[in-house]
Amino acid sequence: MDFQLTDEQLHLQSMVRDFATREIAPHVHEWDERSQFPLDTIKHLGRLGLMGCIFPAEYGGSGYGYIEYVLAIEELSRVDGSVGIIVAAHTSLCSNHIFLAGSEEQKRRYIPRLATGEQIGCWALTEPSSGSDAGSARCTATRKGKGWVLNGSKTFITNGAHADVCVVVAVTDKGAETRGLSAFIVERGTEGFRVGKKENKLGLRASDTSELIFEECEIPGENLLGVEGQGFVDAMRVLDGGRISIAALGLGMATGAYDCALRYSRERKQFGRAICEFQAIQWKLADMATEIDAARLLTMRAAWLKDHHHKTTLESSMAKLFSSEVAVRVANEAVQIHGGYGFIKDYPAEKFYRDVKLCTIGEGTSEIQRLVIARQLLME
Ligand SMILES: Cc1cc2nc3c(=O)[nH]c(=O)nc-3n(C[C@H](O)[C@H](O)[C@H](O)COP(=O)(O)OP(=O)(O)OC[C@H]3O[C@@H](n4cnc5c(N)ncnc54)[C@H](O)[C@@H]3O)c2cc1C
Repeated sequence: MDFQLTDEQLHLQSMVRDFATREIAPHVHEWDERSQFPLDTIKHLGRLGLMGCIFPAEYGGSGYGYIEYVLAIEELSRVDGSVGIIVAAHTSLCSNHIFLAGSEEQKRRYIPRLATGEQIGCWALTEPSSGSDAGSARCTATRKGKGWVLNGSKTFITNGAHADVCVVVAVTDKGAETRGLSAFIVERGTEGFRVGKKENKLGLRASDTSELIFEECEIPGENLLGVEGQGFVDAMRVLDGGRISIAALGLGMATGAYDCALRYSRERKQFGRAICEFQAIQWKLADMATEIDAARLLTMRAAWLKDHHHKTTLESSMAKLFSSEVAVRVANEAVQIHGGYGFIKDYPAEKFYRDVKLCTIGEGTSEIQRLVIARQLLME
């Protein structure tokens, strides 16, 4: 068992860390206050190869694997979780669905432009009345001639208002339950497709979370993604990879919150000494660091298994569940260590506290992760 990163991985990690410090950190507060999508930064990440980490070079990707992808998402999220979730939804949800289920022609047509950040992607499964129970979707796709007509809406879609390419899951056979769902590619500008409400959120405010509306939206037959009726099964396969990215998102934000709490505990003096000299604060820091390390090990295990072509349903959910709950605990303690200043926007602890909560909700809530894990355990 080798716990060391390779030289190439260390180089990537340090490159992303430098980028995040230089290009993201100075703007984090302003983007958050204004709920401003960092489009230029995302395009810049594309030029650096960070919008297509997990895809082979022949499709315009960087040819890395999930280990490198985790390192990148972690380093970005350590500075700004909004950037982390934008990259994650684009890469391991939208692009990866096309990569996993698409025809060769679809892969050649879409992946290179997505992987280089020339185009932005989103992935639309959730609907107003179907979240955890994604199989009960109502958005429909009906055959019309050689093509399809989409009707319905999707909600809470990351990158929704900025995406050029959207993967949408819709009902193609009402009576067939989850076997009646299929995935489609819809491009921005298609008649009958528009962006609805842009959500005003608790955290991750620089990321865009929007409603998508389909009204008699006609798309060509070749935009069916994968086999008809396989959309739900493929979506679950996509989430096996996506949940690793949410684990990395939580890990990055937890590390960022820990870093600022450690720094502050050395600077802040009360009763004539730095607060890090109090055992109560030391125990908090020890628990935070230990839990972050455990989350990193679970996340890296899932990434390693994915890179070695194992099925990771169990390990991805374990990593996502643990890492996201650690992130919430660590961000909470980071605020506590800052005392009153933790409640104030001048210090980064406040933003981590708001941002991390999404990790226990997106790509399946903690309750759903426990359900997935238990199901896998009972299957053995
Ligand atoms: C910022 C943000 C970004 C998102 N991005 C995307 C995206 O890009 N694409 C996309 O498709 N979706 C996206 N989502 C949607 C997200 O995946 C859903 O919000 C999530 O799956 C939960 O669904 P829901 O909100 O409908 O909650 P519900 O399913 O209504 O759940 C409500 C509560 O009930 C619990 N619950 C539900 N069923 C069970 C059960 N069987 N057992 C125990 N407890 C249960 C849940 O855990 C939760 O606590 C995003 C959401 C947010 C907030």
